[in-house]
Amino acid sequence: MSENTAPNAGNAPEAAPAEKRDFIRQIVREDLASGKHTAIKTRFPPEPNGYLHIGHAKSICLNFGIAGEFAGVCNLRFDDTNPAKEDPEYVAAIQDDVRWLGFAWNELRHASDYFDAYYLAARKLITDGKAFVCDLSAEEVRAYRGSLTEPGRESPYRNRSVEENLDLFARMRAGEFADGARTLRAKIDMASGNINLRDPAIYRIKHVEHQNTGNKWPIYPMYDFAHALGDALEGITHSLCTLEFEDHRPLYDWCVDNVNFAADDALTQPLVDAGFPREAAKPRQIEFSRLNINYTVMSKRKLMALVTENLVDGWDDPRMPTLQGLRRRGYSPAAMRLFAERVGISKQNSLIDFSILEGALREDLDSAAARRMAVVEPLKLVLTNLADGHEESLTFSNHPKDESFGSRQVPFSRELWIEREDFAEVPPKGWKRLVPGGEIRLRGAGIARVDEVIKDDAGNVVELRGWLDPESRPGMEGANRKVKGTIHWVSAAHAVEAEIRLYDRLFSVENPDDESEGKTYRDYLNPESRKVVSGYVEPAAAIAAPETAFQFERTGYFVADRRDHSADKPVFNRAVTLRDTWASK
Ligand code: ATP
Ligand code: MG
Repeated sequence: MSENTAPNAGNAPEAAPAEKRDFIRQIVREDLASGKHTAIKTRFPPEPNGYLHIGHAKSICLNFGIAGEFAGVCNLRFDDTNPAKEDPEYVAAIQDDVRWLGFAWNELRHASDYFDAYYLAARKLITDGKAFVCDLSAEEVRAYRGSLTEPGRESPYRNRSVEENLDLFARMRAGEFADGARTLRAKIDMASGNINLRDPAIYRIKHVEHQNTGNKWPIYPMYDFAHALGDALEGITHSLCTLEFEDHRPLYDWCVDNVNFAADDALTQPLVDAGFPREAAKPRQIEFSRLNINYTVMSKRKLMALVTENLVDGWDDPRMPTLQGLRRRGYSPAAMRLFAERVGISKQNSLIDFSILEGALREDLDSAAARRMAVVEPLKLVLTNLADGHEESLTFSNHPKDESFGSRQVPFSRELWIEREDFAEVPPKGWKRLVPGGEIRLRGAGIARVDEVIKDDAGNVVELRGWLDPESRPGMEGANRKVKGTIHWVSAAHAVEAEIRLYDRLFSVENPDDESEGKTYRDYLNPESRKVVSGYVEPAAAIAAPETAFQFERTGYFVADRRDHSADKPVFNRAVTLRDTWASK
């Protein structure tokens, strides 16, 4: 592995992982075995109204994973039907995130590519007597809808003639009416036990510029209609979504079946004219449980508020559960995929412990990250028996378990930085590190002893002076002499000063969504989630490219910050500690 390529810059895993047998993959297997499908097609359908978070990663790994495992394809489709909240910034970031996770989409589509086909589909429903233009206000619609225990009432506009409906719909499309003045509603069943089937709106009037279609449309399709028809148009075989859409499935099927793009080439002609292939088919919606993780909020609204209220440092703040944030924190694509695999796919809602996420990162970086030495809270140790200008270069292997990482040269000299917490003037019981008069092994350099503790006027230890046993140098017989502890160090003359950002969980409670006692997630922010210190790193860490991850020996896994790191002014983010420090809390 070359040193300057990010060891975590990943592609889909090379080694074939064990076959996954969740219920969705079982359905896919059966559909292929029975000949129901000869090729699998999935899609990941984000709405570009915010940045993707780790919950979306579960859906991405599922959709792209299945396509990959069953020789199928997966589209990336932006469900951009709500122009007021959508932005090209999100469209770009989402593509970046999917690629970063190691996946390649078959086609990049937008629901807005299909606006002409949706419009024709709506006209077909009107012509077939299955949709009508309704003049009820939003409030009236709500009052007519009924409740879980009471049936709804039919709109007084429900029995308009096909001609009148076609005329009104054309005028909606022409921009004649104000926002909210009318809707186009599917004519299904106001007495249905499923409220989604009580004549749901399928088009609304909204005079808003769209990030993709500009001012071409003053009406926009509703999500359920557009989403189902988008899947149908693309020939998606398995439309995978989260459980809250289970109640929407009957409406999904209603839209697909009643429009039936596959049976009516005139409806899809606008797409063909625009250069898209004809690929309409009947998709099947299958729901799975969403990912929930403790110590985290995942609603886009709350993530947005964290950013706009400056409670974090933007969408890619390394404490954010966004993919941009996790990436900047040092999470590797391989760790994200490993996490998704561990969490698995089911219909059971559950809360995943944050430590599962951290564990996946530790596991990946343990094998993928080269080792370096860095001192986070420095204390000087002067080895007085070495000559003033003493300087040498020691060979260190880059990975204790993997020779392919090779080795590097680490400068060693008379003055070292060691970790302040590796010295105790009055050691607690069981202490294995440095004490006055005691010995310690300096990793790869020999055995040292502290003879003199220098303090400032306030009594703080400012420097240690000691001696390096000349018989204990690497390769000498004395090097094997038993001493209690080994500590890491960097040569003061060669080390590069670095900004070290010690990140921890953003929230200090398991359930920051808890709003009892008038609290909000803002009240649960962990004040210790970000601590910035100035430390020293060995030269081979400083020169690393941004996004290179290392294990700083004995300290944790760190990544060279994607934005701020440079060889002259290194900036490292702590991705995760070496061990789980929360389990005991
Ligand atoms: P909102 O509806 O508030 O915009 P969303 O999280 O549903 O937010 P989408 O952009 O609609 O965002 O989601 C895209 C896909 O990701 C959907 O298929 C959705 O089901 C899936 N998804 C979103 N959140 C999670 C989650 N926590 N776990 C698993 N899948 C998720
Ligand atoms: Mg959504």
